Amino acid sequence: MSRIYRAGAAALIVAGFATTAQAQRPQIETKKVDGTENVYIFRNGNHQSIFIVTKDGVIATDPIAYGRPTGGQDYIAEIRKVTDKPIKYLIDSHYHYDHIAGGKPFKDAGATIVAHKRAKERLALLKDPNTPLPDQVVGDRRTINLGGTRLELRYLGLNHSDSNLVMLLPKEKLLFVVDTIPVGSFPGRGFIDIYPLETEDFIKKVLALDWDRLIPGHPGQPNGRLGTKKDAQDILTLMQDASAEMKKMGQDGKCWEPAEKEFKLPKYGSWPGYENGLQFVARRYCALWGRGT
Ligand SMILES: [Zn+2]
Repeated sequence: MSRIYRAGAAALIVAGFATTAQAQRPQIETKKVDGTENVYIFRNGNHQSIFIVTKDGVIATDPIAYGRPTGGQDYIAEIRKVTDKPIKYLIDSHYHYDHIAGGKPFKDAGATIVAHKRAKERLALLKDPNTPLPDQVVGDRRTINLGGTRLELRYLGLNHSDSNLVMLLPKEKLLFVVDTIPVGSFPGRGFIDIYPLETEDFIKKVLALDWDRLIPGHPGQPNGRLGTKKDAQDILTLMQDASAEMKKMGQDGKCWEPAEKEFKLPKYGSWPGYENGLQFVARRYCALWGRGT
């Protein structure tokens, strides 16, 4: 009997270790981006942002502290493991709390918070106690030069929200894009209020910029990889396929039902997130082609 119990326990342990890499990784992790001298990815759970260390100070982005009361402090503690330079800027990628809640410790540390102008309008209406308002706003573009690093903030039109800034490091040929272009996975819940047609134009503009690697706001699949222009093109194609698939049903009067039930994209069936995400993609395109919004 005891042998059987031991075997059972061993099997349980093996099963425990055989869970996904996601379950095994630590909650918080900071990694320097390969091939760069000073660009880091800070990950907290399934969210990530970048920070850049220069001789004149640090440029941080998204605090990613929604539902994580110490998340902002934890982020600063990770920065402090790399440098004691002052944190000069905190750049918000857009107004969604899962990415930008938790900015207060950065502000307290003296950082200037920068976001798109519509992000500030939105945040001012909602008054979330965990999300300080931006100190400075950006229209279509702004360049931050600090300690030899050039960071370009670009607003490329409506996409995942009405206020996403993409962040380009031209020397490093890196682009930080949050939420609009998932890397290696099917779109999920966040698709619910995307601007579908405008996002196609947005991705074409992203593809026209000069970069080699895309850092997403959620770790890329598999293994937290960075994206390429092919990944961006794949999402553009996916959106065009999804839109075409729903267009006929919507114009035939089949939205919301039965179109949402019939909608399938078997070409993407093997992508991570397909089973769960399909309903959100279906609903968004039903709204577009069946309702006009
Ligand atoms: Zn978002």
